[in-house]
Amino acid sequence: MFTNLYSHLLMSSTFVANDRSYQAPDKPILAICADGWDPEYVDDALERVLMPCLAQALADGGTYTLGRAQVPTFTNPNNVTIVTGVSAAQNGIAGNHYRTADGGEVQVTDPSFLRATTIHAAALEAGIGVLCVTAKDKLRQLLATGGVPAFSAEKAHEQQLPDGTPVIEAMGAENPDIYDWRLSPYTIDMAVTLAPRFDARIVYASLTDFVQHSAAPGEPMADDFYRAVDISIGRALDAGFVLGLAADHGMRPKAAPDGSPNVRFLDDALEAAGVTGAHTLCPITDPYVVHHAALGSLAWVHLDDLSQLGHARSVIAALPGIEGVLDRFAAADAFELPADRIGDLIVLADAGTVIGKSAAAHDLSALHGTLRSHGGLHERSVPLIISHRLREGALLGRDLRNRDLHDLLLNQLA
Ligand SMILES: [Zn+2]
Repeated sequence: MFTNLYSHLLMSSTFVANDRSYQAPDKPILAICADGWDPEYVDDALERVLMPCLAQALADGGTYTLGRAQVPTFTNPNNVTIVTGVSAAQNGIAGNHYRTADGGEVQVTDPSFLRATTIHAAALEAGIGVLCVTAKDKLRQLLATGGVPAFSAEKAHEQQLPDGTPVIEAMGAENPDIYDWRLSPYTIDMAVTLAPRFDARIVYASLTDFVQHSAAPGEPMADDFYRAVDISIGRALDAGFVLGLAADHGMRPKAAPDGSPNVRFLDDALEAAGVTGAHTLCPITDPYVVHHAALGSLAWVHLDDLSQLGHARSVIAALPGIEGVLDRFAAADAFELPADRIGDLIVLADAGTVIGKSAAAHDLSALHGTLRSHGGLHERSVPLIISHRLREGALLGRDLRNRDLHDLLLNQLA
């Protein structure tokens, strides 16, 4: 108790993270990364009154607007852009998955990949209590950087609070499985329940997009999900939080008329055209293959021999469903990406198409139903929601991004 009291006395009224200044909050804030919440889900849920608590907050002066996500529109780059407040060019995280200089492939889960501080680490340094809770355990280490207390709902059964209390005992309920739609509401409940134990005033909860990969707006699982999340949102508001919500990316159907994934396999196409030493990397790749079988609408291509770049580029550009092929530096400029963490070519598929490495490299049998996925430009528009009134003119003339979520919550409330 004494340390908590003492930390309040030392608490700064403002702090800086990556050259952006933030005010310490008067009321505790809960920023939610709503994984895969295409605006269509929110519009549908509000229209059919599946989310009465959210609707009431909006009616009472809250804001629902749209912003843009970081391209590639994948989970890790967008969680990291939201928690650092800066682009991938500055924070260094351009994918879930990354090809090392020696040709190996690694998951981007280690904080050593981060080139920026997190807002939570900077706040903690300034004496402000913080907490991060993620549904997917793959994000926990990145969020914990700088000593930030971070837990995952996926592995809650293995985690303990600093006083030794098991997390699921503090929750009074066991954690749902990673492929259970209840995991996201549980994640919000975890953030709200555990926040007082850390005297946390800046709280982050990152959800999972299993539901959005599996069900379109209006399908039964999506309806159950949005009703349950709304109950958790209501609990957070009742607990006194100002709530902000931004999606990491949208979600679209990517199936051919016969129901199979509408996929272009780039290594296969390049090999057939005589391009050797090409390595397609799917930066959506993560442990959750049931979600998407590592198929997204953007991929990198690395080439052993750069003299083949022009040929490779024209082979890929001629494939149906491919709408853009940029070289490394053009893509870094266009999308604020770290040039050394992407491919020699950056390939963008159209709204209904995904990109794979080779037919042999993807296990499509793991997919749950027809493919819904993300990663390209067509999943870039995302909801930005603030439960409380913003100050007059807070959004005026702004090109809003999901990375502005903490600015809105900490600097722009009325
Ligand atoms: Zn995601």
